[in-house]
Amino acid sequence: MFETNETYGRKVLIGNILDSRTMTFHYGFVETEGKKITKIGQGTDQPDCSGALVLEDKHSYILPGLIESHNHLYMDPGPFAEVTQRPDTELLKSMLRNAQTQLHDGVTAQRDCGTPNFLDQRVQEMIDTGIIDGPKLLTCGPWITATHGHGAWPGYALIADGEDECRKAVRTVLRHHVDFVKLFITGGTASKFAPPDFCYYTEREIQVMAEEAKRNNKQVCIHIHGGKGIEYAVKAGADTLEHCSMVTDDRQIELIAKNGVMMMFNNGVRFAPPNPLLPKFELERVAKTKESSIIAVQKALKAGIDIGVGADGYQDNYSLVWAMEAFVKSGASTQQALKAAGETPGRRLFGGERGTLDVGKYADIIITNENPLDNISNLRKLHTVIREGKIVRRDARPMV
Ligand SMILES: [Zn+2]
Repeated sequence: MFETNETYGRKVLIGNILDSRTMTFHYGFVETEGKKITKIGQGTDQPDCSGALVLEDKHSYILPGLIESHNHLYMDPGPFAEVTQRPDTELLKSMLRNAQTQLHDGVTAQRDCGTPNFLDQRVQEMIDTGIIDGPKLLTCGPWITATHGHGAWPGYALIADGEDECRKAVRTVLRHHVDFVKLFITGGTASKFAPPDFCYYTEREIQVMAEEAKRNNKQVCIHIHGGKGIEYAVKAGADTLEHCSMVTDDRQIELIAKNGVMMMFNNGVRFAPPNPLLPKFELERVAKTKESSIIAVQKALKAGIDIGVGADGYQDNYSLVWAMEAFVKSGASTQQALKAAGETPGRRLFGGERGTLDVGKYADIIITNENPLDNISNLRKLHTVIREGKIVRRDARPMV
């Protein structure tokens, strides 16, 4: 591990810099001081290297830290039934390990889309106070679902039925100072009795929950695969729609585009070899939604919808890159994949403070050996990770 005398001291990074407007690399430099980017230079611009730590490599590719838009740090590979029986201390241990792995793999910011017993907030606090290094986290605590809905496990979910309970569930998560509110309104691949395209909440229940969240200035994140719920969610004011694996209807795409809703794709699992630990019905659903999810990605890209990507609980090494690879296999370009893990979630989820290399933004930066625009898998060859101006990974390698 590379050590510096001053963790947040001035740094100058020289190499090929990603311009997130054109999504092209240009030779130049990035200066950082404290937690922020202070200068970007290109062409004949000269960096001020006095008193700075200089990382110079003309063959390197310097780009914004990756943003994971939909993950669950508590989830380790395996069936949900096992996960729900693990005690909090064990879940917390997994979360801390997974947060550190994510950061090591270049994920400098992450939205955690649902965690039992508000454990996500404990991890967030440990990261924010510097007890551990990890990605900047956005948290929502437990998700909200109906008695007969997806993921209706006590502790993991706040179970709410009817308008009053729905409003109270939102207020309950708000009382814990969550960053956003997560609703489950359709089934998923993992819930035996709730099909992915069936909306088990009424339109009015969804409206009430979205209204309460938005009245408190919180974004509304809705788990949905397809079906009638798309219309309910968009009309209720959803900020983000998760999974979207069955959104193939042109009218749905048009509605999402017109209302400026962000779509999230978590398609890695659909391209992976079947996990023998998962039950048969789940494997069948995953396989069944592969084709429709590819169509959904392509239609969303064509319609110019803001898109984010996430690994959704799969925590192997470089899991976000794995999700980006699936996004590319679904028809996205490498530029679109980098945007979906950079500029777009930075703007839509992190208030425009992250996701691009621009003056005034947080100095969340990764450096790779090879160009990720040539092959998105080159992100697996990163050797340096800087999170808010602090070097958190620096592999030994010769400088050119
Ligand atoms: Zn999820």
